[in-house]
Amino acid sequence: MAIYKQPCIHCGSLVERDARFCPKCGSRNPFGFQCPSCLRSIDKGSQVCANCGRPLYVTCPFCGERTFVLEICEHCGRTLMVPCQNRRCGERKFFENEKCTVCGKKIKIKLR
Ligand SMILES: [Zn+2]
Ligand SMILES: [Zn+2]
Ligand SMILES: [Zn+2]
Ligand SMILES: [Zn+2]
Repeated sequence: MAIYKQPCIHCGSLVERDARFCPKCGSRNPFGFQCPSCLRSIDKGSQVCANCGRPLYVTCPFCGERTFVLEICEHCGRTLMVPCQNRRCGERKFFENEKCTVCGKKIKIKLR
């Protein structure tokens, strides 16, 4: 059976269509965007998440530009994800999230 691959929208590497995450950049949603708070699918260009109401444009803490809630800043390319501080969890979370969406542990922001 042929394996169909499609480029990851976050890093551009080819990923199997049914992959749960991108093996190159670790994105959990290689072919779409998801809300960093509730993990529902979102459309690029939407201002707020239709499910939880979270704003989908944020100010990058590195370059100060407004960027869509991607895993990396659209302007400076720095990662906007921080690792969960629960060592048994290890999930990467969006920097603005106050709690890990997987284990619920509070996240201290240590980007700078
Ligand atoms: Zn990727
Ligand atoms: Zn949401
Ligand atoms: Zn930036
Ligand atoms: Zn966690």
